[in-house]
Amino acid sequence: MSKEIPYKIYLEESEIPTSWYNVRSDMKIKPAPLLNPGTGQPLSLEELSPIFCEELCKQELDNDTAFFPIPEEIVKFYKMYRPSPLVRAYFLEEALGTPAKIYYKFEGNNTSGSHKLNSAIAQAYYAKKQGLKGVTTETGAGQWGTALSMACAYFGLDCKVYMVKISYEQKPFRREVMRVYGADVTASPSDTTEVGRKILEQFPGTTGSLGCAISEAVEVAVKNEGYRYVLGSVLNQVLLHQSIIGLETKAALDKYGIKPDTIIGCAGGGSNLGGLIAPFMGEKLRGEADYDIIAVEPASCPSFTRGKFAYDFCDTGMICPLAKMYTLGSGFIPSANHAGGLRFHGMSTILSQLYHDGYMRAVSAKQSEVFEAAELFAKCEGTLPAPESSHAIKAAIDEALKCKETGEEKTIVFGLTGTGYFDLKGYQQYNDGDLTDYIPTDEELEKGFAGLPNVEA
Ligand SMILES: *Cc1c(COP(=O)(O)O)cnc(C)c1O
Repeated sequence: MSKEIPYKIYLEESEIPTSWYNVRSDMKIKPAPLLNPGTGQPLSLEELSPIFCEELCKQELDNDTAFFPIPEEIVKFYKMYRPSPLVRAYFLEEALGTPAKIYYKFEGNNTSGSHKLNSAIAQAYYAKKQGLKGVTTETGAGQWGTALSMACAYFGLDCKVYMVKISYEQKPFRREVMRVYGADVTASPSDTTEVGRKILEQFPGTTGSLGCAISEAVEVAVKNEGYRYVLGSVLNQVLLHQSIIGLETKAALDKYGIKPDTIIGCAGGGSNLGGLIAPFMGEKLRGEADYDIIAVEPASCPSFTRGKFAYDFCDTGMICPLAKMYTLGSGFIPSANHAGGLRFHGMSTILSQLYHDGYMRAVSAKQSEVFEAAELFAKCEGTLPAPESSHAIKAAIDEALKCKETGEEKTIVFGLTGTGYFDLKGYQQYNDGDLTDYIPTDEELEKGFAGLPNVEA
């Protein structure tokens, strides 16, 4: 390769992809369909439509269309903060003394601080186009709620956010950003919904979970005319929107003739990873190229590495559709001391199927090692990473250190999904030595599995 690789590979604005790529179109074994929890039958468009926006339901159910043109209004909004840079981590490579070449795709360059805006703006657009008044959602660490608030403000939609109570208390600033954008934010579980009141009665003093917050948000959407529920991860439509990350990454690498060996992303519900790997996975599925694809999850919420591949509810209140995925059970609530985000009990059905079929692998990381990697990265590369993103950093460092042993000059690409300015509570705990590594025992996991619905998988 003759061209010197710059620190940052930027695409031109005109090179922003104009279509999203649907990796399902290239999967021989398609992800299992969402099931109606009442009948056990695959959900139809008619059944999904009272919950989700119509156009998004169509995207959710479409396993065949390879490319979805991105509506012009969305491309226009993307131009506020895209294309995002692909950065060569020269400083980190030097600090590690590795022959590996490390790149990261940085998605934190917007006020919401993460990749979630890529899907939030799409979902708000379709809600607006349908003539809805507003949308409801849950948020865990707060990035999704922030992103959705920004997107709703842009299109003049009402936005009701149920925020997991522990985050609501620990991240008051994130909550405040949402309010800047006009969102209505409620700590979950709350007494504003039937399901919230039930959960509070059953588990008084609970710090909440994404599963609880989803149940509340869905209830409010279904009970209020002109509202629909939107979700920031897990769903097929979200992975579709996030394919913009991978398409840009691939375009930037192609400019310099770089072919990655290893692609790494953190995995909560799977949207950034699914988006980052989409075009690469497509090549792998079509037999055109091979890549080592790694999902990194917290050891305290290990859906891939210790979960079961089964139909499960996406929410604690068990009112959502059933999805076949790697899951810890919808009743699983990660330990309250878990600081690193990625708290969802399940995983994208697309990634679950790809993992099950051997197209990617998964590793888990303890939160103390994640924060250690985060601080090394912050010092070397000058960006304070989100704890979620730092799972990917940790795995990328491990892979680069393996190259140091073997002398291999692998090219490693990872997703730096966001910034950590609102996660300083977690950094504080780490710096004070108060961050412990809670790893659920097999017995604890069994309790979650015991709650799996009895569905033919
Ligand atoms: C939400 C979030 C994640 C995890 O969600 P995925 O759907 O798995 O991508 C990772 N990083 C950041 C910064 C996030 O906000």
